[in-house]
Amino acid sequence: EATTGSNFITTIIETDLKANKNNGRLATRFPPEPNGYLHIGHAKSICLNFGVARAYNGTCNLRFDDTNPTKEDVEYVDAIMDDVRWLGFSWDDRLHYASDYFEQLYAFAVQLIRAGKAYVEDLNADEIREHRGTLTERGTNSPWRERSIEENLDLFRRMRAGEFEDGTRVLRAKIDMAHPNLIMRDPTLYRIRKTSHHRTGDTWCIYPMYDFTHCLSDSIEGITHSLCTLEFENNRPLYDWVLDNVAAPCHPRQIEFARLNLSYTVLSKRKLIQLVDEGVVDGWDDPRMPTICGLRRRGYPPEAIRNFCDRIGLAKRDSVVDVALLEYSVRENLNRRAPRVMGVLRPLKVVIENYPDGQVDELDAVNNPEDPDAGKRKVPFSREIYIERDDFMESPPKKFFRLGPGREVRLRYAFFVTCTDVIKDAATGEVTELRCTYDPATRGGDAPDGRKVKATLHWVSAAHAVDAQVRLYDRLFDKPNPDEKVEGKTYKDFINPEALEVLEGCKLEPCLADARPGYFCQFERLGYFCVDSQDSKPGALVFNRTVTLRDAWAK
Ligand code: ATP
Ligand code: MG
Ligand code: MG
Repeated sequence: EATTGSNFITTIIETDLKANKNNGRLATRFPPEPNGYLHIGHAKSICLNFGVARAYNGTCNLRFDDTNPTKEDVEYVDAIMDDVRWLGFSWDDRLHYASDYFEQLYAFAVQLIRAGKAYVEDLNADEIREHRGTLTERGTNSPWRERSIEENLDLFRRMRAGEFEDGTRVLRAKIDMAHPNLIMRDPTLYRIRKTSHHRTGDTWCIYPMYDFTHCLSDSIEGITHSLCTLEFENNRPLYDWVLDNVAAPCHPRQIEFARLNLSYTVLSKRKLIQLVDEGVVDGWDDPRMPTICGLRRRGYPPEAIRNFCDRIGLAKRDSVVDVALLEYSVRENLNRRAPRVMGVLRPLKVVIENYPDGQVDELDAVNNPEDPDAGKRKVPFSREIYIERDDFMESPPKKFFRLGPGREVRLRYAFFVTCTDVIKDAATGEVTELRCTYDPATRGGDAPDGRKVKATLHWVSAAHAVDAQVRLYDRLFDKPNPDEKVEGKTYKDFINPEALEVLEGCKLEPCLADARPGYFCQFERLGYFCVDSQDSKPGALVFNRTVTLRDAWAK
C-alpha cells in the first residue's frame, strides 16, 4: 500500500528524525473545522498527515478545530469521522477537540496579559480595521493599548463572565502596529460570541481565534510537524510569536504546502455549502460533488483516492491538477477489481427469428479478464434480446461498423446475428424493433468458417432482464476553472447541465437482480457503475455511473 513518496516535507521529517529532534518523535494532526463536509482537497491533507505518521512510525491526531460556534455542528463532526475512516485511516484514542482546551487557552491568554503582551480593546471592528493601516501605511496604536495589566485582567475576566455584549470588546496581542506583516499588527486573540457551542454549550461566551488556538492546540498535543496549506504562510510568524510568549509545552514547526485545486470543480467549503443550500445539487453526497461522501456515493474507491494523492505529490506552489488524473486513478483501480457484466442503457428490442421460441442457451461469460480468479458466469440467451439503440443505424455512414440492415455482428459471448428487417412506428418513423437471424455455428463468438465481423455488441435477454434506473454522472462544471473571473458571472453560471442524466427502463443482466449498495461493476463498453447507496431498493435498482471507460473530455 502506497503512503507518501518523498517530497520536501518528508525530507524535513527525515532530517529531524536523524538529528533526534523532538527525541526522535514524529507527531502530526489533521485539524478540520466542523463547519462543512470534507472534500477531495482535505483528502490530500489527510493522506499527507496520516501517511507520514504511518511511514515514519509516528502518530497522527484527528483534531476538530471547533472554536467558531456560529458555523459548526455535530452533524459535520460525525460526517468528518466517517469520511476519514472510509479513506482508510484511524486515530484510535487520538481524537481531540480544540474546545477541550478552552480552559487552558484562557490561562495562556492570562499569561500574555500578565506579561504585558495582550490587552482588552474597546474599539469596534471598523475602528480596528482603520487603525491597522495597509501594506504601505503603518498602523496606529489603539487608545486602549496602554491599559494597565490589572485593568486588562479585570476586563478579560468580565468578558468571560458575560458582562459585555458581542462585538463590544476583544482581546488583542500587543505586538507591533508598524509590523510589515499585517497579521502581526496586534491580532485579535478572543472575541465575544454569546452563542451555544455544539460541545461546550453555554459554558463560554468568549471564543479564541484560529491563530491563537491552533499553535497552542498543536503544542498541548505535542505535535512536532504542523502541516498546513500555503494560505497560512503569513500566519507563521504569529504561530511562533504566541508559542514564544507563553509557557508552551513545546514548539511545533509549521510547514506549508500547496493546497489541491482540481479542474472542473470548486474546492471551497463556502461554495460547496451554497450549492447544497441553493439546491443546485441534491445534498453533500450528491455524486457530482467533490466531497468525500459524494465521491464515495459516486463509486470512487478509497484506494483510488489515496493513489491519486500520492500521484499529485506535494509542492510549495499552488497549481491546478487536471481532474482527468483523478478519473484515471479511479479507472485504473476499477479495471483491476470490477466484475464485467452487460447492461443496456437505451434498449432496442431484437427478435431473432430463427431462434426457437422458449429455448434458452446458457452462455459462458468471463467475469474479469484482468483477474483470473474472478471466474466465469452463465448468461442466458433467448429469442428476444435488447441491444443498445446507438449500436444500430438504418443508414450507417462509412465509419460505423456496428449493426445496420443486412449487416452481421457478434453478440458478446453468444452468436453472430444478421439484421434482416427494421420495424418502425408508423406515426413517428422511430425504429421500434429489429428482426435478425443468428448462426448457431458461431456459439461462443467465433465462426468455424473463419469469417469475421467488425463489431461486438453487448446485449441482454429480454425475458431475463432486470430493470433499473441508471444515473449518468459527469463533471459538475463545464469549464476547467469555474472560479475564473468573468464579468457578471460566478462559478454557479458554469454548472454543467449535462452532469446528470437519468435513464429509466435500463435492462441489466439477471445476475444483478440482488445487487446491493457497495456493489460495483463494469457495464461492458459503457463504463464503471455502482449501486446507489441511498435510493436503490431490491426490485427497484438504481445504478450510478462512476466513470466512463475513456476520457470523453480529452480534446
Ligand atoms: P475550505 O477552504 O475548503 O473551506 P478549510 O481550509 O477551511 O477548507 P479546514 O477544515 O480548516 O478547511 O481544513 C482542514 C485541513 O485541511 C487544513 O489543514 C487545511 O489546510 C487542509 N485543506 C483544506 N483544503 C485543502 C486543499 N484544497 N488541499 C489541501 N489541503 C486542504
Ligand atoms: Mg480552516
Ligand atoms: Mg479555508
